[in-house]
Amino acid sequence: MRQRPERQRVRALKALLKDEGVRALLVTRREDVRWMTGFTGSAGSVLVAAGRPCLITDFRYQTQAALQTSGIAIEIQKKDFPSALKAAAGRLGAATIWFDESSLTIDALRKLRKQPLALRGHRDLVGELRQQKDREEIKAITKAVRRAEESFRELKHYIRPGAREQDLALMLEFLMRGKGAKKAAFDSIIASGRNGAMPHAGVTNRRIRQGDLVTFDFGAEADGYYSDMTRTYCIGKPTPRQRQIHDLVRTAQEAAIALASPGVSCKAVDAAARDIIGRAGHSGHFGHGTGHGIGLMVHEAPSLSPLSTHTLDIGMVFTVEPGVYVPGWGGVRIEDMLLMTPGGPKVLTSLPREIDGLKQV
Ligand code: ZN
Ligand code: ZN
Repeated sequence: MRQRPERQRVRALKALLKDEGVRALLVTRREDVRWMTGFTGSAGSVLVAAGRPCLITDFRYQTQAALQTSGIAIEIQKKDFPSALKAAAGRLGAATIWFDESSLTIDALRKLRKQPLALRGHRDLVGELRQQKDREEIKAITKAVRRAEESFRELKHYIRPGAREQDLALMLEFLMRGKGAKKAAFDSIIASGRNGAMPHAGVTNRRIRQGDLVTFDFGAEADGYYSDMTRTYCIGKPTPRQRQIHDLVRTAQEAAIALASPGVSCKAVDAAARDIIGRAGHSGHFGHGTGHGIGLMVHEAPSLSPLSTHTLDIGMVFTVEPGVYVPGWGGVRIEDMLLMTPGGPKVLTSLPREIDGLKQV
């Protein structure tokens, strides 16, 4: 029988904890808990120390926790979380507990401090491990990409002058859920004409017009994992300016992808795209990062931005999504998802990237 991937993940975490001198780690982020244990409930934390990790949850999840996990001790909190944690720590012989500074709230910490427990903050160690996806994770992500792309291919028949952004967004979600996604990865962005100048525009009741550039940014869920992709297509024949800006974004994206390989800094990949856009006189029109990791969360490490301290490594799945946004005119963004392999990045997304690509979708 094949071993559950969670076992290997716990082993990897324990090895990292040993290197860091952390003897007991409290994992509180929901996605981290799921990654380590398979538990998908909304309330649960894991204490990782010597021996079996302990999942602390409440009565609502008693049955679910037992069904979804294996090799994990389960502590059902009777009174409140701090006293349950204290009991679990006592059983695991953990005198000091390190917590994840990036996910434990100040309120929760205040309550924990009322217990006779020694608490110490630590950087996000599980998040660091989660950057590199294992086989099961890559399978789920690939499925999430497929669900989104197949849905978009069906949505194509509704994309025409007169269609409202919000109706298309609703239809897209309907299609993705029809293919098994529990939800859309996030609220789809369908930004037509001038709305395209807002990188994270909400959908409006604007009707698409002939000659509009329309930015579609969307993704689906599969087994808890997400996809995220963007295409900008012209409805009808593009103007020279639309074509020029679209070509510029594509060139910037291609340069970033060409540079991406194991060992390259995420900052350098960001700069590859940003420099091309800047040299074309649009530096003020590209104000977000070039990409982000994706997995159990739509945005997770590594980040590809001017401030990033991450380095690309084998197994990472991330987006490359430069854009140019011109107020009063519109915008273009092209976003693909990449899996880093020993031989370089493998592009997971396949929808046509051309400005008139809608015809070939
Ligand atoms: Zn996106
Ligand atoms: Zn994205």
